[in-house]
Amino acid sequence: MRYRTLGRTGLLVSEIGFGAEWIDGMEDSKVRELAKAASDAGVNIVDCWMSDPAVRSALGKAIEPERDKWIIQGHIGSTWQDGQYLRTRDMSLVVPAFEDLLTRLHTDHVELGMIHYVDEVAEFESIMSGEFIQYVERLLEQGRIEHIGLSTHNPDVALLAARDERIEMIMFSVNPAFDLMPAVDDIDVYFGDYADEALAGMDPIRAELYATCEAAGVGITVMKGFAGGRLLDASKSPFGVALTPAQCLHYCLTRPAVCSVMAGFQDVSQLQDALDYETATQEELDYASVLAGAPKHSFHGQCTYCGHCAPCVMGINIALVNKYADLAAMQPQVPQGVGEHYRELGLKAGDCIGCGDCESRCPFGVPIAQKMQETLALFGE
Ligand code: SF4
Ligand code: SF4
Repeated sequence: MRYRTLGRTGLLVSEIGFGAEWIDGMEDSKVRELAKAASDAGVNIVDCWMSDPAVRSALGKAIEPERDKWIIQGHIGSTWQDGQYLRTRDMSLVVPAFEDLLTRLHTDHVELGMIHYVDEVAEFESIMSGEFIQYVERLLEQGRIEHIGLSTHNPDVALLAARDERIEMIMFSVNPAFDLMPAVDDIDVYFGDYADEALAGMDPIRAELYATCEAAGVGITVMKGFAGGRLLDASKSPFGVALTPAQCLHYCLTRPAVCSVMAGFQDVSQLQDALDYETATQEELDYASVLAGAPKHSFHGQCTYCGHCAPCVMGINIALVNKYADLAAMQPQVPQGVGEHYRELGLKAGDCIGCGDCESRCPFGVPIAQKMQETLALFGE
């Protein structure tokens, strides 16, 4: 298992995480088996947004024997009312629901206290200026959460969160289909009738979000990495072709600031499908060729950092140079961290001789030589 530092939380998280929502309805023994298998494979981060007491209890029993190994994303604002999940900001419901989470997980703290599911800008602003954030900050002071995170599907909200110093990490929905979509408040409309027209190009807000998170040291953990399984099925995918789990995971894990993908699995074989990412060949990870040949793709002209254009006749790591260039270009000034990473590269855009040899291998029609010139101008080398 490979690990990444979750931004400024400093936590080292496994690339493959445990999205525990799929354990709903499972026998306790099966949940234990899954958690143990995941932990044995090096998975060390688990997301628990679920409020169902039975689910929380089953997960708590499953991770208790190895509590020290797990980094828990525990959600604040996810409650259980009248036998159903209810997302709420009513503190009379929020507080007991978080106490219940700790009790059922058999722990006195969670590493990541997640402000749960904020998909509207107005709601974000209300949370961050009222009693909800005061409660979350109290939990932080008391050591009952170690870091403050926020979960959202809306890039506008995620961008606001990334710019708010109180929030150290974000759980966000990432996959190639969503990256081409405009911001919406309602996740259910993503795959509505307007999906074709929405695939007009990379959503600039999402591009800005990735760059902002990278620059601010806000790590991203991923939900919806397979778009609820739609991307794995050609008949349901907005691209009209199926991707494999490894290809979806690779897309997510090659976005700036992304550290871990919360993969959902219902049995050990599905867990293994996700774990196979760690040992997959470059061919198996190659989402780019699939998307490039898809009837509905629209990545044309934009670098997806897939690395297909290699090798460069001069030895430049084109994907990395492009990634740093895109990160830098998103900001009014080149962020210090990005500039340092760029300077550490052995070969830079200034080494490009403009031969164009790489461009024929780019599935997305990126004008690489021209981009190298722009990057040279940006970084000065
Ligand atoms: S155009 Fe530049 S980046 Fe591309 S192969 Fe030639 S030297 Fe390398
Ligand atoms: S320039 Fe093209 S081939 Fe190279 S990393 Fe970017 S998208 Fe991939």
